Amino acid sequence: VWGNCLSFIEDNITPQAYKTWFSPIKAVKLSDAALSIQVPSKFFYEWLEEHYVKILKVALTKELGETAKLVYVIKMENTYGNKQPFTERIPSEKPSNVGNQQVDVPVKHKDPELKNPFVIPGIRNVKIESQLNPRYNFESFLEGDSNRLARSAGLAVSNKPGGTSFNPLLVFGGVGLGKTHLAHAIGVQIKEHYPERTVLYISAEKFTQQYIESVKKNNRNDFIHFYQLIDVLIVDDIQLLSGKAGTQDVFFHIFNHLHQNGKQVILTSDKAPVDMQDIEQRLLSRFKWGLSAELQQPDFETRISIIKNKLFRDGVEMPEEIIEFLANNIKTNIRELEGAIISLIAHSSFNKREITLDLAKKIVDNYVKNTKREVSIDYIQKVVSDYFQMDVDTLQSKTRKRHIVQARQLAMFFAKKLTKASLASIGSQIGSRDHATVLHACKTVDNLASTDKQFRKFVEDLDKKLTM
Ligand code: ADP
Ligand code: MG
Repeated sequence: VWGNCLSFIEDNITPQAYKTWFSPIKAVKLSDAALSIQVPSKFFYEWLEEHYVKILKVALTKELGETAKLVYVIKMENTYGNKQPFTERIPSEKPSNVGNQQVDVPVKHKDPELKNPFVIPGIRNVKIESQLNPRYNFESFLEGDSNRLARSAGLAVSNKPGGTSFNPLLVFGGVGLGKTHLAHAIGVQIKEHYPERTVLYISAEKFTQQYIESVKKNNRNDFIHFYQLIDVLIVDDIQLLSGKAGTQDVFFHIFNHLHQNGKQVILTSDKAPVDMQDIEQRLLSRFKWGLSAELQQPDFETRISIIKNKLFRDGVEMPEEIIEFLANNIKTNIRELEGAIISLIAHSSFNKREITLDLAKKIVDNYVKNTKREVSIDYIQKVVSDYFQMDVDTLQSKTRKRHIVQARQLAMFFAKKLTKASLASIGSQIGSRDHATVLHACKTVDNLASTDKQFRKFVEDLDKKLTM
């Protein structure tokens, strides 16, 4: 079919034009009356659409009849991501404006049919590979108290992309708590409900690379244009835009365009917007336009169901005792939890050994040496005092100076969090206080950490120091 089209076209345009614009095209697929042709670049496609759409229409109609359709498969330039080779398009009746570029090779003689514009109803259909991982769906994203809000907001958005007040939807939370999984799940679900919508998942890192590349190649506008065609844009780990003014700027424009046009934006971040640093204020304020939903550490029940679900999917059985052991010891990161399970299964099958509690302990030790290793209350007091540049005696003293009280409360808080000591025992070791004082300290730290940014930073810093 394509061969016949080509001969027809060859007869109607100059040899030079034919060679430039038609020899590089490859026909890739014919299904019903739709012929897919592969072109080397987006620019190439635009040029064809601008200058040769009519002759293409005539040639195709001759071959395939009135219902003929042409689908462009654009071999994407690196600018738009390596893993993203295709943009498919059907030529529209309205050629895009290519400024004052000349038609260098006009059609030699006009066929009467050429007067009819290339009208295909309801088109300007862009298909961009979504980059979604179908395994990351809602079904495999187990629900628990820790993720209920984020999950249901995600579902709401999937049912009505762009049509809820959750725009953008910002999902934030610590490492390995399911941000990427949930982000994909939303995209996958939208594709299921609305297959015709253009969904794109991209990490902020890759977005940045693409942007830099586009600047180098002098096609920043193409870059922006590409993103403006998207109906649902999912950007993962936007905290990585911090300090990158150029990328933030371009993202700001894309964001505004999409938002104004009722397109859905979904973002993830490892921090709450208030804690994001080196992100422009105007961008931050937009992140807060919609809904920010946190993914928290899963509670024990959720951890158990995640483990069981994983085992079930892998067709592996494991004694209840070991499942509970895992759930009790790996709490802060679901990816680590999964890693430990895989490692456990691998060990037992390589060595042809039963999965025993002993083996589980060894493996968990490898996985969570950081968080697991029990720290002593003395050590905690030392680390906290060092951090605030005071000595341990001062920390323990009776003074009511605010910064010393805070340091003491932090020490109590971490003693509670990181050791198995009772409140009473913690109190007696940190400057002989009673258990009520310790309890009060823990509550105060919790409160301050959620309201005071500076204080939250103290908690995070200390947490890192103590658990590494
Ligand atoms: P993040 O992007 O927040 O670092 P990921 O989305 O990569 O975390 O999740 C880490 C792993 O944990 C993935 O394999 C993911 O499938 C799994 N996971 C996270 N949350 C859940 C959940 N609620 N149910 C089942 N699996 C989950
Ligand atoms: Mg992630």
